[in-house]
Amino acid sequence: MPRNAKIAKSARNARNVKSAKSALRLTPVGTIEVCGLRGPRRHLAGQLTTVLTINEIFHSIQGESTHTGRPCVFVRLTACDLRCSWCDTPYAFTEGRKMSLEDVLGRVDAFGCPLVEITGGEPLLQRDVYPLMERLLESGRTVMVETGGHMSIAGVPPAVVKIVDVKCPGSGESHRNHWSNLDHLAAHDEVKFVIRDRADYEYARDVVARHSLSGRVAAVLFSPVHGVLAARELAAWMLEDRLDARLQLQTHKFIWGADVRGV
Ligand code: SF4
Repeated sequence: MPRNAKIAKSARNARNVKSAKSALRLTPVGTIEVCGLRGPRRHLAGQLTTVLTINEIFHSIQGESTHTGRPCVFVRLTACDLRCSWCDTPYAFTEGRKMSLEDVLGRVDAFGCPLVEITGGEPLLQRDVYPLMERLLESGRTVMVETGGHMSIAGVPPAVVKIVDVKCPGSGESHRNHWSNLDHLAAHDEVKFVIRDRADYEYARDVVARHSLSGRVAAVLFSPVHGVLAARELAAWMLEDRLDARLQLQTHKFIWGADVRGV
């Protein structure tokens, strides 16, 4: 092989090794590689298999949205590419295990519950969340997906109830809002603002007005950061402005406590 060709080949190999290394997610002990993030599908026993990385699946009381108070199965997917300052599920950033779609559906089935929420982390990061949504819809369930609002929701099946966050400045992630998501909202969808302080409130109030959200979706949710902003204070601001929005408290935190997982 001519010397130049050898050099080119060795450079290609070095690049391949580098990209393979970066594809392998180096994670702390007890955590795992996240699969399905824009990568190839996994092959199990020679079959093309739909695989998700799941943080937890549990049966609880829905603590948010207009479905608050209803029994609900939660499917929490691993990984998130945001780092909201008040995030209450940082354990979902890396912890989880790979499960086939059939195994996930089996776990959901076992609870015999007509309401399912797919959450995270950021559930839309995993490509195989879409077949999961389709299969859950086919089973006749009401399917909700909660997204951080920085990924496009255009590919979410219309029958899925989308709970779309708009990040306020106090989260540290408001620059990531994917604004065109607000053009893809259906009447049954809900928009959620997590509010840390007065500046967040004014930001949220202005977004609601600018995008005429109150008349377009099932609910505009104003949720104070638990333990940081008093609900009473947020309520006063909303009443003062005659805001057509819904004050949301995270019911599960009042039932089980703020730091309890799997509820
Ligand atoms: S988008 Fe959700 S999971 Fe991701 S950092 Fe923000 S609150 Fe946490």
